[in-house]
Amino acid sequence: MNHKDVQPPILLILSGPSGVGKDAVLSRMRDLGEPYHFTVTATTRTQRNGETDGKDYIFVSQAEFKAQMEQDGFLEWAEVYGNYYGVPRDQVKTALQRGKDVIVKIDVQGAKTIKKLAPNALYIFLAPPNMEQLEKRLTARMTESSGSLKIRLETATKEMKSATWFDHVVINHENQLDLAVAEIQYAVKIARLNQIKTSNPDLI
Ligand code: 5GP
Repeated sequence: MNHKDVQPPILLILSGPSGVGKDAVLSRMRDLGEPYHFTVTATTRTQRNGETDGKDYIFVSQAEFKAQMEQDGFLEWAEVYGNYYGVPRDQVKTALQRGKDVIVKIDVQGAKTIKKLAPNALYIFLAPPNMEQLEKRLTARMTESSGSLKIRLETATKEMKSATWFDHVVINHENQLDLAVAEIQYAVKIARLNQIKTSNPDLI
């Protein structure tokens, strides 16, 4: 029997420090044809090389962001490293109402905010194997000025300490993306078996 016949959908919140590899994990899950709605966050940050509007982020102006914010259009929004990010409420709500599992990629402060709205979502913290690896990844990405790199590393150190309240911590080891994805799939499987991690779209 298809689990969707008997169980409400799962809302999976994927969090972790900047540079840990959340996008790589999500991209791999997409390639594998995982049947989630992959929520696309709206942001005022400048588009990076290689990013696609509407797929990686919905790139909007400050005015557009503010208008959507005032219409209560975001499930959660925050200023992160000087830019605004918001999770479009209708995307999440509509997908859950249709019985589709949903993934939201978000920073740790955002995950905490969503926890208040959706305590039964499945919270997964993606962690680097160590801080040196994280610094290496952020440096290799070369999108951060050295000031911003320093801030991201300091924030990451604080975020690592708050990993304890998540349902699962998944380490994203170097060159082991499939292992991280498998651990996430396993966590979802356990959540389904336990039938406690279901999200009511009416509360979203
Ligand atoms: P980046 O600009 O490097 O893609 O993302 C910077 C940080 O913003 C990352 O830690 C990412 O998880 C976080 N982020 C992305 N989307 C959202 C969102 O909708 N809400 C919040 N609070 N953070 C987000």
